[in-house]
Formats: sequence, structure tokens, C-alpha cells
Amino acid sequence: TTPATETVRTGGRLIVLSGPAGVGKGTVEAELLKRHPEIWMSVSATTRAPRPGEIDGVSYHFINEKDFLAKEAAGEFLETAVVHGMAHYGTPLAPVEAHLAAGTPTLLEIDLQGARRVKERAAELGLEVLTVFIAPPSYDELVRRLVGRGTETEAQRVRRLETARIELAAEKEFDVTIVNDVVDQAVDELWSLIAKEYGIAD
Ligand code: 5GP
Repeated sequence: TTPATETVRTGGRLIVLSGPAGVGKGTVEAELLKRHPEIWMSVSATTRAPRPGEIDGVSYHFINEKDFLAKEAAGEFLETAVVHGMAHYGTPLAPVEAHLAAGTPTLLEIDLQGARRVKERAAELGLEVLTVFIAPPSYDELVRRLVGRGTETEAQRVRRLETARIELAAEKEFDVTIVNDVVDQAVDELWSLIAKEYGIAD
């Protein structure tokens, strides 16, 4: 039974996960979802072609450009981006709203620009957002994770390091930071945060 003094919440804020390229967000999220299937994670729409092994509706909603632009014009996306100058990506808004309304832990994984745009639009859409930065243990470790393969040119390496430095600086814009050093610990911390936010017994 719930003690009378405890606040019972039916839902929490939309949780937006982001972080620098190479930080291991995908690994942390895959493990989080495996352990806690009650979490709902947004599936983006994209106009790029599926890669081998990708499943429509699971990896992405693969749609053509005409349909994407129509949905965008109709205001069906929480945010959109054009990546590599050609493919469109967008976060469908209605499923996010529906899962939040149902009290389901609702997560987005999105790049840093996308996280900024979600934050900017939150008030206008009446969404409450908690932004979580997944950080490497250190800049040096991020560099090791990024350039470990040794297959790139010096110019590519310099560009990656500069991007890493800029992306790390975005941490201060986020509400919470979780350091991804040991994956299991990062997953535990993230789950504690989600459980607390949604009033779920941890
Ligand atoms: P990929 O095509 O390799 O799956 O993803 C390319 C880039 O698009 C990644 O940086 C990924 O984070 C970003 N991306 C995927 N879905 C979305 C989305 O819904 N919105 C935004 N802003 N970026 C996305």
C-alpha cells in the first residue's frame, strides 16, 4: 500500500537523451530497454533507405520524401532535421503525447541539435521535458573511442576532435548528466532517474 504522505504521480516529463558521437548512447539505451521493457522509446521517421537488418517501424519509420514533407507541413513532427544534406529525419509528435498521457516512461534519443529544438518547442507544445546528457568519462576517453580504428586521415581526425570538443561543451545546456564509463552503472543511474520521474518503485 502507498503511504498517505507519498505523492502519487501518474506520469513524468518527456526524457530526452543526447550526447556526443562516440559516447555509447546506443549501447546504454539497448541495455536499458532490454531490462525495462515498460519504457517506450520514440521511433523516428526518415526518408533514407533502410540498411540491411533494419526493420520498418522498429529502427525507423521509412517513408518517402513527399509523405515526409506533407507530415512536416501538417505539424506532425516534434522536430525535424536534414542530415548529410539529403535525408530528412523527424520525431513523430502524436505517439510521444499519447505515451506521456498514458503515464508510460517516454524517451527520445536525439542528436544535440534535436535536443535543443525539442527544448525550444516544449513550452509552445505544453510538454514538460527533462534533458539528459550522456557523457564520456573524459575528453581523452571520448577521443580514444572515436579514433581507435586508425583508418582515417589526419584532416578527418582533426575534424572529429574539434567536433568532440564542441559537443562536450553542450553538457551545460542539459538538466542532468550521466557518465557512461561502465555501461551497467550508466543504465542503473538512468533507470533510477526514470523511475523517480515516473513514480515507479526502483
Ligand atoms: P542514421 O541515418 O545513421 O541512422 O542517423 C543519422 C543521424 O540522424 C544521427 O545523427 C541520428 O542521431 C540522427 N537522427 C535520427 N533520427 C532523428 C530524428 O528524429 N531527429 C533528429 N534531429 N535527428 C535524428
